[in-house]
Amino acid sequence: MTANNDLITLTAAELSAALISGEVSAVDAAKAQLDRISEVDGELNAFLVTNAEASLDAARKIDERRAAGENLGELAGVPLAVKDVLVTTDMPSTSGSKILEGYMSPFDATVVAKARAAGLVNIGKTNMDEFAMGSSTENSAYGPTLNPWALDRVPGGSGGGSATAVAAFEAPLALGSDTGGSIRQPAALTGTVGAKPTYGGVSRYGAIALASSLDQVGPVARTVLDTALLHDVIAGHDHHDSTSLRHEWPSMAAAARAGAAGGSLKGLRVGVVKQLMLEGVQPGVKARFEESLALLTAQGAEIVEIDAPHFEYAVAAYYLILPAEASSNLAKYDSVRFGLRVTPEGNGTVENVMSQTREVGFGAEVKRRIILGTYALSAGYYDAYYGSAQKVRTLIQRDFSAAFAQVDVIASPTAPTTAWQLGTHGSDPMQDYLNDATTIPANLAGIPGLSLPIGTAAEDGLPVGLQLLAPAYEDARLYQAGAAIEQLITERDGKPFWSQVPSFADALARKAAN
Ligand code: GLN
Repeated sequence: MTANNDLITLTAAELSAALISGEVSAVDAAKAQLDRISEVDGELNAFLVTNAEASLDAARKIDERRAAGENLGELAGVPLAVKDVLVTTDMPSTSGSKILEGYMSPFDATVVAKARAAGLVNIGKTNMDEFAMGSSTENSAYGPTLNPWALDRVPGGSGGGSATAVAAFEAPLALGSDTGGSIRQPAALTGTVGAKPTYGGVSRYGAIALASSLDQVGPVARTVLDTALLHDVIAGHDHHDSTSLRHEWPSMAAAARAGAAGGSLKGLRVGVVKQLMLEGVQPGVKARFEESLALLTAQGAEIVEIDAPHFEYAVAAYYLILPAEASSNLAKYDSVRFGLRVTPEGNGTVENVMSQTREVGFGAEVKRRIILGTYALSAGYYDAYYGSAQKVRTLIQRDFSAAFAQVDVIASPTAPTTAWQLGTHGSDPMQDYLNDATTIPANLAGIPGLSLPIGTAAEDGLPVGLQLLAPAYEDARLYQAGAAIEQLITERDGKPFWSQVPSFADALARKAAN
């Protein structure tokens, strides 16, 4: 075990109990996490910014309210890391981009406001691929985040910062965003848990937009129950977000607790989609996935093979829809309204200022997608590209509907490979794009997904994630099944998966030896 400090290795549920009993104060909890960040984050780079004064101040207020006998929410006093795609009033929000360096939002994203209202303590903003475009966090303008399982490996992306923060005990809980897998894939690569809620289930107000028809904000944690507890805090209708659903969500935490209590896998129909078992799946990933199916079968679940013929076109459709919407969303970074302004010497016309600012402020991947998206939307091409991609999207939704007529959940490896070495995908974005083939269909269909760790791959000892998908509105089903599977994995290993991450000292020593 890794921690030199017992507080930071508590799950959010355990910490909550210790806070409620008065054994631990919110200030102690925040201090422990801030110390841990000071100890390890110079190396890991999961955080772009912290604000100890603001965090400790918020924690102190929670302690005072609790001491005054106020009835606070279950997570009051628990520290929370916030992906930098979410705007906050107490710390800058950059979405991983130079163009927003130092940007202070005049308001909190709704999920951040909800978390504060529930008494969670924001301890920092986490690193991410610029504007959430990427699968490795190497596209951040502020340097890559490292994977605590092996410091020469990526943590996945775009939410690598939130995933590493949670895996490395820098925070028990984090917020992320998932447009094509940015919560689930980093969860898989770092051995943590992450959920993409049903589209519209969690407010996106104050989430810096990437692709509006795909973006979802969601929770990240070390256990299924913790993920569910945070989901319960952020879910629900928001009149600031026109895509927000009016729906009475059941308690995800109650579903997770029911799942952990056992028995809920009996009779569960689990679909395995042929098209998600990609040819390039790493052998150790495949082996762990098959082992988890065997565990499910042993508990009385039924495995059903599913054909989803249009999934094959998901990556192609996504990489038209996303750049098209992103090029439009990013048009507002024009040097006038937000962030950076570069004035070229001697030629400061409006056009020059705008183009120089965008030239300097955006990184290569962002520019690539703006160009692709602008082209796809241009007159004469709209129907051929964006229009066709939208048709494919409908076909994928139909594949899901047909599948869910036969099964309760769909299971697949979350990502086809474990964490790869930093720098190895180089300048070929296709390798990153293909890594999303398993996560993207859920975003195209707006359905919920959950990733949880199921072991390590034999060939490299790195975490493997299991993805569960359910029909829209059935997020609770994922937490129930997920907690049941997590329980089986813990029994198999004799300890929770998250406790198996190498200690920071060991990870450093191994890096030095290589
Ligand atoms: N890796 C995907 C992409 O690069 C997913 C991004 C996301 O979910 N924000 O677009």
